[in-house]
Amino acid sequence: MVDCIFCKIINKEIPSNIVYEDDLVVAFRDINPQAPVHILIVPKEHIPTLLDLNEDNKHLVSHAYMVAKELAKKEGIDEKGYRIISNCGNDGGQTVYHIHFHLLGGRFMTWPPG
Ligand code: AMP
Repeated sequence: MVDCIFCKIINKEIPSNIVYEDDLVVAFRDINPQAPVHILIVPKEHIPTLLDLNEDNKHLVSHAYMVAKELAKKEGIDEKGYRIISNCGNDGGQTVYHIHFHLLGGRFMTWPPG
């Protein structure tokens, strides 16, 4: 998608700190980290929001969670714990309309989120 910042990162049109990539997803460090470890796991397919998930693309969600698990181990946040967040729409706090999963760790996460 032409004006999507995450598509530009996926297509290497703008720089990012990529920590993992395969055929289905790219994972890179968030430009404005909210925890010592803050990685975005982003399906390569342009899917605007969680509401656009369907039978054909739903496998990308479980794949992203499996990648998150391996990255959590690699980043050393697996034993103490971590959080995965996906914001949907305006009230959900979504700012980039290309689905992504925030992997956060390296500090204690409070609840409820703001
Ligand atoms: P959300 O608000 O849930 O849609 O998350 C979007 C996230 O993308 C935010 O945490 C931003 O800090 C992050 N972000 C935006 N632009 C970039 C970029 N160029 N590189 C890395 N992370 C970005």
